[in-house]
Amino acid sequence: MNPLLSQFGITAETGEHPVHSPIDGAQIGSVAYDSAAAIESKIAATTDAFRIWREVPAPRRGELVRLLGEELRTHKQALGRLVTIENGKILQEGLGEVQEMIDICDFAVGLSRQLYGLTIASERPGHRMMEQWHPAGPVAVISAFNFPVAVWAWNAALALVCGNPVIWKPSEKTPLAALATQSLFERAAKIFHGAPAGLSQILLGARDTGEALARDPRIPVVSATGSTAMGRALAPVVAARFGRAILELGGNNAMIVCPSAKLDLALRAILFAAVGTAGQRCTTLRRLFVHDSVHDRLVEALKSAYANLSIGDPLADGTLVGPLIDAHAFGQMQSALAAAREEGGQIAGGGRALTEQFPRAHYVKPAIVEMPGQTAIVRRETFAPILYVMRTHDFDDALARHNEVAQGLSSCIFTQDMQEAERFLAASGSDCGIANVNIGPSGAEIGGAFGGEKETGGGRESGSDSWKAYMRRQTATINYSDALPLAQGITFA
Ligand code: NAD
Repeated sequence: MNPLLSQFGITAETGEHPVHSPIDGAQIGSVAYDSAAAIESKIAATTDAFRIWREVPAPRRGELVRLLGEELRTHKQALGRLVTIENGKILQEGLGEVQEMIDICDFAVGLSRQLYGLTIASERPGHRMMEQWHPAGPVAVISAFNFPVAVWAWNAALALVCGNPVIWKPSEKTPLAALATQSLFERAAKIFHGAPAGLSQILLGARDTGEALARDPRIPVVSATGSTAMGRALAPVVAARFGRAILELGGNNAMIVCPSAKLDLALRAILFAAVGTAGQRCTTLRRLFVHDSVHDRLVEALKSAYANLSIGDPLADGTLVGPLIDAHAFGQMQSALAAAREEGGQIAGGGRALTEQFPRAHYVKPAIVEMPGQTAIVRRETFAPILYVMRTHDFDDALARHNEVAQGLSSCIFTQDMQEAERFLAASGSDCGIANVNIGPSGAEIGGAFGGEKETGGGRESGSDSWKAYMRRQTATINYSDALPLAQGITFA
């Protein structure tokens, strides 16, 4: 481990909290958590950094993010490998995660010259009205284990060009990749010359460290990615002090397969979306609605594809499915399968795999569960490779059931029928933040706004105008006349 970590200038053993690799369950390092005093001094440093950074012109701020992108390019292989070792996703996905970081840096560099406001026609003569965007202040990023570094980058790249420092509490399950990322930031900052101390900081700790960030009024924006349970606890704490929360929470993503669907495309999309990252993506495909006329053919093809999946060491060439993150995740999967069986499901797969090779790790055979209906367990997000398959008879029924769950992250339809595709995207169609046609629900591009509705939390990150969440809007009216006309024609004399 140390040769890999030394490329980032960090060492594996620095504290009393062990870090394990899900690949074989072995301890790969240990970290120290920040004490209450350290949390306090880092939050103080972030507010000091803000006073300096907000005055730096945005295109110059973009230069720092450009340099960060360069560091990420140089260290893509090493960081991707570290993500795989600490999180268990296959190496291709580890590298893909770093590529997303590079992509958002590129996006943010361009954005640094495009933080546009508006000019607005004033109703008063000799007046000009405009809307401008100012940095909001320090941004806390609380991230989940399944995208241990990309989530930081989606937030940090935008926050930094918008003029805000970033203070990051990564998942307690993936602190090493976070420390490596922070070290790449520090290298970029050194080359940049002039980044204030405390511009980007890490706070290592568990839930209570996240709670400290949520409570602190010096942090106006808290971007939190994780389970809906986490968001339900955090959001009222941030709201109680009138802070802004960007919430990226659980999903329960679905696909509708219509009679005209190209089944070969649908099959490939289902495989990547349902078993990729061992079912541990927020956008993982969990519910599959298949029209009666193609149901048996598709399910049979799926079962034979599942039987041939290569499950194994995520660092090895050709592996498609790596391990679950830990024993808790395995337990959650097994109880969900037991509940599905109770609720009438017919299960294929789902058991533990590779126990002899990796007795302390948790590899599983992804499960296909044919359900008689959308029962209670199907409506819950289980963060594991379980695909619930349901038969449908018409589009309206499929769409109604698609929208009937509490989560609203990602969705898709496979059809060659234009009317079905358009109805899926219409106001009365999918109620999710992401809706795709002839593409699976996972693997979003950086250019679009990413996030979901309902219990997914309503936040948006990454592309489009998501940057506005990291800034405060100011409406300014300037009087260049010699009179003082009041709005709405009011006379006050
Ligand atoms: P988690 O909720 O257990 O933890 C996420 C982070 O929140 C961790 O850093 C944790 O320490 C912190 N945390 C937990 N409770 C907190 C609290 N009350 N206050 C402040 N911080 C708190 O999630 P996880 O198991 O790491 O990740 C899996 C979940 O994340 C899934 O539900 C998945 O769908 C979701 N997720 C969502 C997105 C998205 O963009 N919508 C992306 C990735 C993951």
